[in-house]
Amino acid sequence: MNENKKSALKLRINAVGEKLKKNNMEFYYAETAKDVCPIVESLMKEGDTVTHGGSVSMAECGINELLNSGRYNYLDRSKAQSREEVEEIYRKAFSADVYISSANAITEDGVLYNVDGNSNRIAAIAFGPASVIIIAGYNKIVRDLKAAEVRVKTEAAPPNCVRLSCETYCAEKGKCVSLSKADHQMSDGCGGDGRICCNYLISAQQRHKGRIKVIIVGEELGF
Ligand code: SF4
Repeated sequence: MNENKKSALKLRINAVGEKLKKNNMEFYYAETAKDVCPIVESLMKEGDTVTHGGSVSMAECGINELLNSGRYNYLDRSKAQSREEVEEIYRKAFSADVYISSANAITEDGVLYNVDGNSNRIAAIAFGPASVIIIAGYNKIVRDLKAAEVRVKTEAAPPNCVRLSCETYCAEKGKCVSLSKADHQMSDGCGGDGRICCNYLISAQQRHKGRIKVIIVGEELGF
């Protein structure tokens, strides 16, 4: 990235970081995806029980390799042998020391916005794990909650439906069916079993200061 562009972007990211701090979340700036792993490492202790939601951003930063280092009690749902074992890991996440996830959007006011189908991810962000680490590329920054809603309906859910082989309108057409309505609401969407937009979590000012740590990266990550 051009150096001037990088400097301007860093200013924008840091401004969002100040708002996150005002909302009682910790904030860390990472210039590149490569810089994320050392920050995550510094936020965990050896022996911590750690798990995470499905996150393309996290994978792009090489966090799975860190968790597989043997230094942590890693609850890895990819090793589960059955649906029951996956569900057990979802429930164990509530008593984990650390939960890692991305965010679907972060507003310029320092509010996290997440939409979930299974909802294990948003449940753990809201309550349970002692510490929550959010990893997000700068592409997740949006002006406000309305823009966050549109971001999910155009940039997050459609590729996620393709990734997860969910048969939805957006997987076929590239955007949410609700956007055809002029006054679409956050909860508007498709019908059918494939829908991944079921529960909506807005994380504003936190009661438990520092529980949520947000790392914003000066590169595009995930979707
Ligand atoms: S409600 Fe359905 S069509 Fe709309 S974004 Fe979510 S999964 Fe896609």
